[in-house]
Amino acid sequence: MSRERVPHLVVVGGGFAGLWATRALARERIRITLVDRRNHHLFQPLLYQVATAGLSAPDIAAPLRHILGHQRNVEVRLGEVVTIDKQARQIRMADGSTLDYDSLLLATGATHAYFGNDQWADDAPGLKTLDDAIALRRKLLLAFERAEAEPDPAKKAAWLSFAVVGGGPTGVELAGTLAEIARHTLRNEFRHIDPASAKVRLVEAGPRVLSSFPEVLSLKARRQLEKLGVEVLTGTPVSDIDSLGFKLGDQFVPARTVVWPPVWPLHHWRAPWRCHWTAPAACRCNPTSPCPGTPNCSWPAIWPR
Ligand SMILES: Cc1cc2nc3c(=O)[nH]c(=O)nc-3n(C[C@H](O)[C@H](O)[C@H](O)COP(=O)(O)OP(=O)(O)OC[C@H]3O[C@@H](n4cnc5c(N)ncnc54)[C@H](O)[C@@H]3O)c2cc1C
Repeated sequence: MSRERVPHLVVVGGGFAGLWATRALARERIRITLVDRRNHHLFQPLLYQVATAGLSAPDIAAPLRHILGHQRNVEVRLGEVVTIDKQARQIRMADGSTLDYDSLLLATGATHAYFGNDQWADDAPGLKTLDDAIALRRKLLLAFERAEAEPDPAKKAAWLSFAVVGGGPTGVELAGTLAEIARHTLRNEFRHIDPASAKVRLVEAGPRVLSSFPEVLSLKARRQLEKLGVEVLTGTPVSDIDSLGFKLGDQFVPARTVVWPPVWPLHHWRAPWRCHWTAPAACRCNPTSPCPGTPNCSWPAIWPR
């Protein structure tokens, strides 16, 4: 069988969707190129453990080449896709190189959503990549160091004040772990601060945390967080964030460490991608999940509007 004559599917993104779709097609007479801007698949649900020093980076990441090394109809390509030319059936990478396809699967995931307040990104970093997790770990641990060295009590308290914005699953996990670190992990390690005195706040604009779960579970989660020492603030959105703290309505709350976990699908599609497209030869993977605008086509991909 000539390799050139089999259809060429390009999969963009080696996250859960792209990787699992690629593996599901292992026995198909099809040539697959999996393109990702990172060389590894990342188990994002445990990112917060890396951010809070419970796990190290290799515990939650594995090279895509290694995972797919035995799948003969796949090759992996490192590159960031920046444009898609639907007419020419070609993608272009940031380095200027191009790749032709017969069918294309977009599985590029989601990104942080600051809901129109992108200026908060520097002071309230998100948690989506390994780099984010390592940067956040550094920020969290440095906050305790800065508090230890700070003679001014008010400034010391601000360094020991942490806020997690967004009461979704990641925010809940992160706030709980932070409280555990402060109360247990760092116990006896400092001489001029008591890490257990750290304030950990979880801020949720809606009426309850874990709003996508039944109310009884939200209540349980809230109680458990409070038992761990987390202050749960619901019902008021954060109105501003800077390097010294955040505002809830008109009230300023000092906090030198603010974390912003929420992610939002499709966000990063708006600017860089220029066209709509279909994946005609690849429509039989997931009949429960039709692609918008392509009723007879189903892929577990995030689709551009
Ligand atoms: C901190 C955190 C905790 C989570 N916890 C849970 C949980 O407990 N349970 C749960 O079910 N879900 C959880 N999720 C959500 C879950 O991880 C995502 O739903 C899932 O990762 C989405 O998979 P995906 O393949 O669509 O996208 P992703 O896993 O994000 O993969 C997208 C891939 O596309 C690549 N990519 C993006 N743009 C380009 C481009 N232009 N060119 C080339 N490559 C590109 C990226 O590098 C990435 O590898 C969590 C998410 C986060 C961030």
